[in-house]
Amino acid sequence: MAIRREAIEDTGAAIALQQSEARLRLMIDAVPAMITYIDTSERYLFSNLPYMRMLGLAREQIVGRNMREVLGDALYERIGPYKEQALSGQTAHYERQHRRDDGSVADLSVTFVPHLSDDGTVEGFFSLTLDITELKNLERELAHIARHDTLTGLPNRALFADRLAQAIERHKRDGTGFALAYLDIDKFKAINDTLGHAAGDQLLAGFAARVRQCVRGVDTLARLGGDEFALLLEGPITATGAGAVAAKIVAAMQAPFDLEERQVQVTTSVGIALAGDRPVLAADINARADAALYDAKAAGRNTFVLR
Ligand code: GH3
Ligand code: MG
Repeated sequence: MAIRREAIEDTGAAIALQQSEARLRLMIDAVPAMITYIDTSERYLFSNLPYMRMLGLAREQIVGRNMREVLGDALYERIGPYKEQALSGQTAHYERQHRRDDGSVADLSVTFVPHLSDDGTVEGFFSLTLDITELKNLERELAHIARHDTLTGLPNRALFADRLAQAIERHKRDGTGFALAYLDIDKFKAINDTLGHAAGDQLLAGFAARVRQCVRGVDTLARLGGDEFALLLEGPITATGAGAVAAKIVAAMQAPFDLEERQVQVTTSVGIALAGDRPVLAADINARADAALYDAKAAGRNTFVLR
């Protein structure tokens, strides 16, 4: 009788265990994370549902197979150092991009956590992958906002300073040259005062778009603030060439801007400085372009001056 009771109890325990495992399985398949377990011979012993979905593979195409087979040669080679780190008993972390089946790209954050036995030897590692695409998109958006002007979408003063510093370094190395121009809308305050700030904003955006059309894709147009813009014309460029671009910008303002319910015409003044034959300092070329703009304003506006 005693044997029979034990057998019944065993069966009960086995069922309870099975149920508990099934619950665990449900839970681990439901977590919004991709989880696998890999042993020391780099074989997958476990994969949850999100991981299978990410790779677009069935369980039997993962579990029992080794990492190189499942991940492919290129990815396997790239994550090699992290795998080694985990197999040496240390937690490893990396981020990678993954192309989904529909062609879109996901940003993944991957952590390998070593599984140590009681005596400290490594038995394998858990791999935990999180989809951080939304976070990364937000990060990219914030990085963009920090370096661009929201009204015109142009680079702001900080990004422009970087581009100018790069141009100065390049010029120092190979003498390619470049030109720096400052642009300021003439009598812009009057537009704001008569038509209102919203119309003024529209005009600033229209002005930016029109200037952008006068220059090359490699050139940088930035809004420094208010109605003040800066333009970096990439070399090689001569005084004649820079003058021609400035004249084109001044002339481009002849056509009126279509604002809501009305048309407005404005002019602009441009001051240009050329990097010349020798290396230049940012402060010097900035001061020259600024002085040239001042001269253009003093000369009656609607014109450019090259220094
Ligand atoms: P000048 O020919 O000497 O350049 O005369 P101006 O009236 O254009 O004078 P200034 O360039 O000093 O004035 C810039 C004006 O731009 C002052 C301010 O009212 C206006 N402003 C600055 N930021 C903004 C903005 O974001 N939106 C709008 N609508 N106006 C702005
Ligand atoms: Mg102005």
